[in-house]
Amino acid sequence: MTAYPHLLAPLDLGHVTLKNRVLMGSMHTGLEETKDWNRVAEFYATRARGGVSLMVTGGMAPNSEGGVFPDAAGLYSSQDIENHKVITERVHDAGGLIAMQILHAGRYAYGPECVGPSPIKSPISPFPPKELDEDGIEKQINDIVTAATRAREAGYDGVEIMGSEGYFLNQFLVRHTNKRTDRWGGSYENRMRLPVEVVTRVRQALGPDSIIIFRLSMIDLVPDGSTFDEVIQLAKAVEAAGASIINTGIGWHEARIPTIATSVPRAAFAWVTKKLMGHVGIPVITSNRINTPEVAEQVLSDGCADMVSMARPFLADPDFLHKAATSQAQTITPCIACNQACLDHTFSGKISTCLVNPRACFETELIIEPTVTPKSIAVVGTGPAGLSAALTASERGHKVALFDRETRIGGQLNMAREIPGKEEFHGLVDWFETMVKQSGIDLCLGVEVTADDLSDFDEVIIATGVKPRDPEIPGQEGPNVLNYIDVLRHKAPVGARVAVVGAGGIGFDVAEFLVQVGESPTLDAVEWRNEWGIADPAEMRGGLAPDGPQPEVPARQVTLLQRKAERPGKRLGKTTGWIHRIALRMKEVEMISGVNYEFINHKGLHVSFGERRENPRCIEVDTIVLCTGQISERRLADALEARGLNVSVIGGADVAAELDAKRAIDQGTRLAAAL
Ligand code: NAP
Ligand code: SF4
Repeated sequence: MTAYPHLLAPLDLGHVTLKNRVLMGSMHTGLEETKDWNRVAEFYATRARGGVSLMVTGGMAPNSEGGVFPDAAGLYSSQDIENHKVITERVHDAGGLIAMQILHAGRYAYGPECVGPSPIKSPISPFPPKELDEDGIEKQINDIVTAATRAREAGYDGVEIMGSEGYFLNQFLVRHTNKRTDRWGGSYENRMRLPVEVVTRVRQALGPDSIIIFRLSMIDLVPDGSTFDEVIQLAKAVEAAGASIINTGIGWHEARIPTIATSVPRAAFAWVTKKLMGHVGIPVITSNRINTPEVAEQVLSDGCADMVSMARPFLADPDFLHKAATSQAQTITPCIACNQACLDHTFSGKISTCLVNPRACFETELIIEPTVTPKSIAVVGTGPAGLSAALTASERGHKVALFDRETRIGGQLNMAREIPGKEEFHGLVDWFETMVKQSGIDLCLGVEVTADDLSDFDEVIIATGVKPRDPEIPGQEGPNVLNYIDVLRHKAPVGARVAVVGAGGIGFDVAEFLVQVGESPTLDAVEWRNEWGIADPAEMRGGLAPDGPQPEVPARQVTLLQRKAERPGKRLGKTTGWIHRIALRMKEVEMISGVNYEFINHKGLHVSFGERRENPRCIEVDTIVLCTGQISERRLADALEARGLNVSVIGGADVAAELDAKRAIDQGTRLAAAL
């Protein structure tokens, strides 16, 4: 008897039966743009082998004006069709089905040729769209239909028509972006004409044996968005037009409410999809922040949807479904919804991968094979770098001893998990614990190893991490000064008024920790919705609460400072930095840039501004918390190197600047893959 009867139940679509209730949702990985079709095919086939029944590709542009960025991938030529056959054949051989997403970005297309219903520029793009005339609209429909027929020629089992997240079709649906007075604007019947026409014509072109998924925005989270009556009306119309499945979209890209970040509660929007259940006869998929088989099972058994869509969890672990089906769910590498290696890469023009799985999208390059020359390997440090190196080396057949002077594994991950909104780090540390237990690694905790202890190993890997940088502020030895480790790990008492010195990732984290009263809103979906101003779309257009966000009163009065004159938080994650900045603003955290730290005394932190150290000011606080970055902890590495021993130094012990778990895990895994 499986623990996930709903998740693993088949679903009959008429002409084809899906093995389970999971859609691997569309992700733009940047792989298609590499034109290395073997690599792209291996990415998808690996996931099909892992049990994904139906998957959707990254968005393919139907034409140049609709591409998310110039030269976005699409099926434009017979050569493109041949290239995509490599993908579809490999997925079919692996037992999976694959649909191609057709993504017309409309005014989100990052280029001067972009088009839309009305010439209204989006707040996230510098390019105002050209208003389409009747012929222009007809051209867009034709191009989308052509893309669908080419997808079928390339062997795709169907298409997903992207009608949500504020893209082209969604832009026609709402008055916010559609000011037209012709038959494509005005009444809702007119505004939904384009998406319905697209589905009708794609169905006509593909015939009955192709899957057509329509991705429908259930809650726009922008002003003047759709009502839920309109959502239902559209869902019924796309069903009648020939859609096989309705998938859920949540929030436009320009919405200022987080929808997939780690601080969003798990399955936070399943209740919205549930409102559509019973209104249409075709299967409905729910989405967003579903990252474990337990959560997926719960959502399905609660009747929120017929299927769930998960995307990033399949970057983290391509064998997610196989493991769920074979009672190995505790070994599923968890997606922590950090966006650091997937979406942040996409938006920086880099190929996506995964913080917890550096093999994602690098399946053909980063190969972990059994070793032919097993060695004895010592790994010192159980942060993400050391753990990844130890697990990979052990998986390959090396004999690994793993040491840490702490009594639990995890290193800096144990501080991250204390931050409200970063609860997913608990699951990551638990996963590392499970994997270490299951491996043959000899784990030695609470042991401070010396160079003498390590002399008999064939290889020594030093992953001793970092220690806080000393900012050398006069008076910092006073009783009112702590560092972030005192606060997060040792839970030292902190006063009611606090200055956080240093506004990097940890300064922001500490500030979020200090302003939070009681339980994290990430663990309380109702409170989280209040904090961010999310309403029921059946009551409020677009699902925006009339009174806006209602954050809890902050636990403390916090001032966050940095020396750089730039906007604090500018260097945080590309797709998540804005969330941290808004979250702190909502908690009335004062952010001050461009300071010089003069001295600390019993009154507080004394600062001045500019090169001439002008405008002296005392930030009157009870506690000052130092979050001024780190330096490498290299004492052991230096001692070993002094003896001429062969050591590899990884993670923060190697380079402390811009240390993050992504680099640590990648470096540890790659090193061990090559030993
Ligand atoms: P960081 O990002 O390098 O920030 C250090 C902060 O200390 C900066 O604000 C820096 O700004 C200040 N600083 C540096 N030297 C100083 C000195 N001598 N005196 C006074 N201030 C000084 O380091 P972190 O915050 O410790 O984070 C470490 C790494 O963890 C980051 O690189 C990040 O990748 C990762 N992390 C990320 C997140 C996230 O994205 N949410 C969260 C946690 C950790 P000024 O020089 O302008 O004062
Ligand atoms: Fe999930 Fe982070 Fe990996 Fe992206 S990088 S798939 S969000 S764990």
